[in-house]
Amino acid sequence: MPDELLQRLRRFHDDYFPGVQDRFQTLVQDGQHPSILFIGCSDSRLVPYLLTGTGPGEVFMVRNVGAFVPPHDGGKPGGQALAGFHGTAAAIEFAVLRLGVDRIIVCGHSHCGGIRALYEEPTPQAINLTAWLELGREAALPVQMTPEALRRTEQRSVVLQLERLMAYPMVRERVEAGRLVLHGWHYVIEDGEVHVFDVRSGNFVPASNAAHSGTGPFDSTPVDDGSRIFNEIDAAFGPVGCDGPDALVTASR
Ligand SMILES: [Zn+2]
Repeated sequence: MPDELLQRLRRFHDDYFPGVQDRFQTLVQDGQHPSILFIGCSDSRLVPYLLTGTGPGEVFMVRNVGAFVPPHDGGKPGGQALAGFHGTAAAIEFAVLRLGVDRIIVCGHSHCGGIRALYEEPTPQAINLTAWLELGREAALPVQMTPEALRRTEQRSVVLQLERLMAYPMVRERVEAGRLVLHGWHYVIEDGEVHVFDVRSGNFVPASNAAHSGTGPFDSTPVDDGSRIFNEIDAAFGPVGCDGPDALVTASR
């Protein structure tokens, strides 16, 4: 069997890399200074670099099934923060505290298998997956699984994860101080369009019609009132254009 992966590795090194070697060497000498943390679903059809037109050194990325954000306190209600094997939580802390990113994108997408699984029977052997999916549970609707229900659940989940993100102390502090902007995105694979969660309207707006890419009030003028952003995000997690707002509001409290 021909080893196609080996051929691809050689092609990268021999054909592509020479054209970008200077850029990578600079990134090694100067270190990485990405301004964006991208939390996206692992789905192979979601290609963040294509969506955002970014390249090496620009995006710190963490991906998982469903684009979920685990609770900062390790899931212990009212408990102290617990160290744990949460790769996504570690990436959030690293990106905010060490890299100092000024944007965090949570990006779900259409036809998400992780969201669909919320409506299906768990796979017995997949004990980690079953537990992980609970991070999206509160976004699920008490209805039959339909394309519309799935779409809405995907979008509700993005908002749910944003709110859980706000329970990370270092995220909350920076959002309140106007130093960090959150972006809630839902990517529609078949249309090639990102729908941006707009906290003011509580809806997801196609990027082609959106006034901004961020979730808070995100004007072209510099943000100077972080607490206003926080309050509006908080307020908007209720409506979200969905039913069952209480679940979203109480998700991480
Ligand atoms: Zn997915």
